[in-house]
Amino acid sequence: MAVACSKFDVVVVGGGNAALCAALSAREEGAAVLMLERAPESDRGGNSSYTEGLMRFVYSGIDDILALAPDLGDDEIACSDFGAYTKEQFFDDMTRETQGRTDPDLCEILVNHSSAAVHWLRTQGVRFLPQFGRQAFKVEGRFKFWGGAILAAWGGGPGLITTLYRAAEQRGVQIAYDAWVRDLVSTDAGVTGVVARVSGTTRAFHCGAVVLACGGFEANAEWRSRYLGRGWDLAKVRGTKYNTGDGLAMALRAGAQPCGHWSGCHAIGWERYAPDFGDLSITDNLERGSYPCSILVNADGKRFVDEGADLRSYTYARYGGMILEQPGQFAWEIYDSKVLHLLRSEYRTRHVTKVQADTIEQLVARMDDVRQDQLLQTIRDFNAAVQTDVAFDPNAKDGRGTRGLAIPKSNWANTIESPPFEAYAVSCGITFTFGGIRITKEAQVVNTNHEPINGLYAAGEMVGGLFYFNYPAATGLTSGAVFGKIAGRSAARAAMGRKNGGG
Ligand SMILES: Cc1cc2nc3c(=O)[nH]c(=O)nc-3n(C[C@H](O)[C@H](O)[C@H](O)COP(=O)(O)OP(=O)(O)OC[C@H]3O[C@@H](n4cnc5c(N)ncnc54)[C@H](O)[C@@H]3O)c2cc1C
Repeated sequence: MAVACSKFDVVVVGGGNAALCAALSAREEGAAVLMLERAPESDRGGNSSYTEGLMRFVYSGIDDILALAPDLGDDEIACSDFGAYTKEQFFDDMTRETQGRTDPDLCEILVNHSSAAVHWLRTQGVRFLPQFGRQAFKVEGRFKFWGGAILAAWGGGPGLITTLYRAAEQRGVQIAYDAWVRDLVSTDAGVTGVVARVSGTTRAFHCGAVVLACGGFEANAEWRSRYLGRGWDLAKVRGTKYNTGDGLAMALRAGAQPCGHWSGCHAIGWERYAPDFGDLSITDNLERGSYPCSILVNADGKRFVDEGADLRSYTYARYGGMILEQPGQFAWEIYDSKVLHLLRSEYRTRHVTKVQADTIEQLVARMDDVRQDQLLQTIRDFNAAVQTDVAFDPNAKDGRGTRGLAIPKSNWANTIESPPFEAYAVSCGITFTFGGIRITKEAQVVNTNHEPINGLYAAGEMVGGLFYFNYPAATGLTSGAVFGKIAGRSAARAAMGRKNGGG
């Protein structure tokens, strides 16, 4: 699309959830907004397009859910226990999973604004649905939701992004695709524009303020090995190929302060033979999120992790890195018939490397690249250690663990003995990187001299300091919405101030 007007108050760099929220929020303040998305229109939306659209937010009960999920039927309401998710629980989850390192100011903003941000998305046209069968299993006729992340945007990530682009277009945000932003324009007065290659032609766009919302460096193999460490160049990229750290690089060149866990990232168990980058026709179907019901074994035929240490929402983002550390950077998940009905829907697509058999010996013989004798011994040892006297409950940490194993399974331990057996090959899929740049409470970028940079704001994956070591599931979209909204508003106000003769 040609850019109709060359004078903008706010230029937003990026085209995912955080960028769209920033653009919509800046428009609400009356700013003229241009959004520059590096991808072509057919590939727009960044990682946000690859998500299942799941969002973590504070809610107090069924009324919140009904306001956000107007399509829920009476029968679905009747068989569901949505519970509640308090601010205290959200704080606790963030603090525990980040080992107490999350920036208290940013975390407070994230938690306190999470509910308002999700309700604001609803006003932009986004509808939500509870994630039956993913964030709750049906036990004795009822779904009991757990873990604070229960609603996903209707249509998943693609649905969320389509709705937000529609809202942005309707509200007069100008959008350029194929618009690869290469640098910021800065003077002593601060940032006053960007340089971008739009459809092959490089030009400058001048403006009152810039919002950087163009992702982390997960799609840059060289940066991954440089910052995350040895072997990370071998990870598969779950989402967009366009998040190569450009925004971080240009911000650092402009003096921005690096912040947060630069050697940390979110990475999960992912289809072993997945393509190097995400594919929008498959999106999240390469995830293997049912491992708490499995045993995970490596090429040596050994278990290497407590598959049931906690609910999936609190372990999955760490386990990709553990798979990457295994010989050959892969593992197998093994299930028996007792839990096959609990497997998430992605296990029933054609995007799986799967073997199936009626005996354990046959199954093991069909699993590529694994030491069979050791694996058979591992399964025997595991079966003997399962505490079968404790009841199995997939909706809660049930304490049905193993006894006496060097690597325990703490919950949801079931013997592997009832045919048919299934095994799925996984490798490491990186989702996004945790390191970013420091921002103020108003989402203004801070420089290495600890001063806010005039005219520069950031949101989404680019914000450093929120996530360390781990991540409570479904916080990325919430963070993008919360800080995108703040960044857009702050940038608009700053741009108007500059236009009216202020700094
Ligand atoms: C497969 C998958 C599933 C996920 N599921 C969930 C989920 O259900 N819930 C959840 O909360 N989180 C989920 N996440 C994480 C979530 O996607 C991210 O946390 C969130 O989408 C980040 O939003 P963002 O806007 O910061 O980045 P993105 O959505 O990645 O957007 C970055 C944008 O910047 C653009 N860009 C990059 N470089 C440039 C440049 N130089 N110039 C111009 N534009 C540029 C990109 O093209 C892209 O449009 C998932 C991620 C993946 C990959």
